Parts: sequence; C-alpha cells; structure tokens
Amino acid sequence: MILPEYITQCLNALEAAGFAAYAVGGCVRDACLGLTPQDYDLCTAALPEQTEAVFSDHKLVLAGKKHGTVGVVTPFGVVEITTFRREGEYLDNRHPEWVEFVPDIVQDLARRDFTVNAMAYSPIRGFADPFGGREDLKNGILRAVGDPLQRFREDSLRILRGIRFAVRYGLSVEDATMQAMLSQAHLMDNLARERVFEELNKLLPLVDAQDLLAFGPLLGAVIPELMPLIGFDQRSPHHAYDLFTHVAHVVAGVPREPALRWAALLHDIGKIPTFTQDETGRGHFYGHAPKGAEMADSVLRRLKAPTALRQQAVTLIEKHMTRLIPEKKTLRRHLGRLGWETVEQLLALQEADMGSKGTGKPEEMAQFPQIRSILEEIRAENACLALKDLAVNGHDLMQLGFTGKAIGQTLNILLEQVIDEKLPNEKDALLTFAKEL
Ligand code: ATP
Ligand code: MG
Repeated sequence: MILPEYITQCLNALEAAGFAAYAVGGCVRDACLGLTPQDYDLCTAALPEQTEAVFSDHKLVLAGKKHGTVGVVTPFGVVEITTFRREGEYLDNRHPEWVEFVPDIVQDLARRDFTVNAMAYSPIRGFADPFGGREDLKNGILRAVGDPLQRFREDSLRILRGIRFAVRYGLSVEDATMQAMLSQAHLMDNLARERVFEELNKLLPLVDAQDLLAFGPLLGAVIPELMPLIGFDQRSPHHAYDLFTHVAHVVAGVPREPALRWAALLHDIGKIPTFTQDETGRGHFYGHAPKGAEMADSVLRRLKAPTALRQQAVTLIEKHMTRLIPEKKTLRRHLGRLGWETVEQLLALQEADMGSKGTGKPEEMAQFPQIRSILEEIRAENACLALKDLAVNGHDLMQLGFTGKAIGQTLNILLEQVIDEKLPNEKDALLTFAKEL
C-alpha cells in the first residue's frame, strides 16, 4: 500500500518518538480495493499529550482531544491522529459508557464495525488485519467484527452503515451479520433522526433496484411508511410488480440526485391509505399523489431532513401524477411555475415511474424524448418564463398609477400573456396592455 508523503512523515515522526502508528479504517479499505482514499485517518499508541508534543512545531486542532483525536495541520489538510482506544459497554444502543486509551492496536481495531473497516497499515510494520478484512474484501463479503448481534446492539447505526458499505463496494452481507441486522433493526428507533437521515441520504444515490429489494425490510424499520409496500399487490392490469418492487425500480431509474431519489422512494406511499377496489376487484388509488406528498412531508420532517430537500421531494411527489405532455405552451407554463430544475426532475420521475410498471408500453414511453426535445427548443429560445425575465417590473406599473396588490396581480397577468405568446415580451406592448386592464 502506497501512502502519500505527508502521511508517511506523520507516521515516521510518531515512530521516531517511540510510538507505534498506522493509517487506519476507510483509507486502508479503499487502497486495498485499488481506490484512491478520500482522506487518511491515523491511529497511534501515543497518548493525546504525547502526540501534541511530537507535533509541537505544527498548528494543532484540539477539539477532539478528549476522545483521543489530535488534528495536525499540514499544507495538505488536517491529519487526524487518534490514540488507540477500547470502548466500554453500550447501554443506550448508541454510545459506549466509557472509552479507555490502550497501547495495543488490536483492541482498537476490535471496536470497529466491519472487518473491511478494521484494518491498519504502516510502512514500517505492515498490515494489522486481525479480523481478516483483506480476505473478506477479496471474497466480496461484508462481515461484522466479532459477535454481530452484540455489535448492532451496541450501535444500531452500524446497520445502516453496513448497507451503505455493502452497496458502495458491491459486497454481499455475510449470513450471521445479515440475520443480526434484521433482528436488531428495531433498535434504530433509538437513533438520532438526523444521523438516520444522513446515512440514508448517502445511501440513496448509490443504490440499484436489487439493493433496495435486498434491504427493503431494514429501510422499513426506519421509515415504517414503506413497510406495507413490500409485497403489496396493486390489483391493477397496469402493474406487474408488487408496489415495493415498482418503487425500487423507480428509485434506480432516476438520476443520482438526493431530492429526486427521496421523491422516488416515497412517491407511492400514499397508495396504501387511498387503496380501494371496484366491483371487478381492480385496485384504484384516487388522490394518492397529494396524500403521498403529505406523508412524505411528515417522514422527512421526522428525519430532520434539510428544508430545501424536503420541499423539493414533496413537490415532486405531489406533481408526479400531473403528466407532462409534449406541448410547448403547457411546458412553458410548467417552467414558469416550477422552474427548470423541478420540471426536469419531474420528467425523470415520471419517465422512471412509467418505465417501472413491468408491463412495458413503448408508445407511452415515446413521449419522453419528445418532451425533452421541446424543452431544448424552449431553452434555446431563452424565453421569458418567470417574473424576473419580464420586460416590465413593479416600478414601471407604479409609474402608471398601480398600487398595492394590483401590482403583483398585474405582473402575473402580463407573465401569463407572454408565456402563452399572446403578447411579446416588450415594454411598450406590456404597458399598453396593462393600461387597458
Ligand atoms: P467513508 O469513506 O464513508 O468516510 P470510513 O470507513 O472512513 O468511510 P468513517 O465514518 O469516516 O468511515 O469512519 C472511520 C472509521 O471509524 C471506519 O472505517 C470504522 O473503522 C470506524 N467507525 C466509524 N463509525 C463507526 C461505528 N459506528 N462503529 C464502529 N466503528 C466505526
Ligand atoms: Mg472517512
């Protein structure tokens, strides 16, 4: 394994002072996979004060010192150096009761979550890999360190981390580890919601349909609204898949943008409470889009998702049944109301939705490239689609004698006229029309 020069220098400085030191965790895993690590974490037998002394000629970041971490400022970024430590019992499924600095790296590696994350490397000492992380990587296996039941009981966030690592590196979860993930999934109720959101938000852009199907019940443990979708028969001639399989294909079918992926994941949760059957037994879901939007809003609030992401996802879900059609005028109106980003995401969602029914109707899918080419035409025209593009503004209307609410109302009327190509976007024409109003 080849380490960057500045990392080797940090390790050498610690070793020269008599302390064992290694690169550890994600960087070792990524290097073993032939990937370039995003950052390098170091660990050492030196106590935090001793690390401070070794790097006394550097600027240091000491915010994490209590937990054993000293940040050394180098021209290549802050290198975090953490003292080997051992953890006490976890009584709250989240945090250890105590941590203790130890001289032995094996104890430090033993507290880590998965064998592939529990490896260290030093140019002087070689690999420390007491749990067979390299062997597991070679065989494509994700395995908990030690007793999987105990490890997920200690910290149930590891369940979501495990899914993320399995998906990111295409590893299959070893049997006992998977069983323990499933049996301890309920403990994820105790986690801080924002940590759950953060993990899911990192996961969603990575997944394909098979990943979602494999981990569906675990996602259902943190988003209970998803659980009834699994295996749900829609009793519809339009849908060959059960509802969750459909959703899994829609998620995988949209671009890897977080808000869009969330929208895809939650777009049909409103189908459960709105489900009805007619006399022939066929299923209907009247009003499932607004209902789903309302439910998604509450899911994303509960998970403390950022407001902008939540609102974007909710808008997409609310509008997912309002089919875009290949007609310039209506597309211009949608662009005026929703903006480019939302219209493009909505189109992607509708295309994936339509394409994921398992009943393959090519004639329905043909409209999507048509809509895209009309959108390109509109973009090329650089047309006026929003108030900010209009050739008149509120000030112009005030000079004509408009006051109060009438200003905004009139601007909107003018915009509609321009979008519908009934008026040119020219100041004189717009003001003349406004006067007549
Ligand atoms: P990424 O590339 O996503 O950052 P990473 O492996 O570096 O992957 P981090 O969350 O940065 O992951 O954590 C660094 C290391 O700390 C992990 O490799 C693992 O050894 C350990 N670790 C992190 N979180 C946990 C946890 N919840 N339980 C046990 N060990 C953990
Ligand atoms: Mg990391």
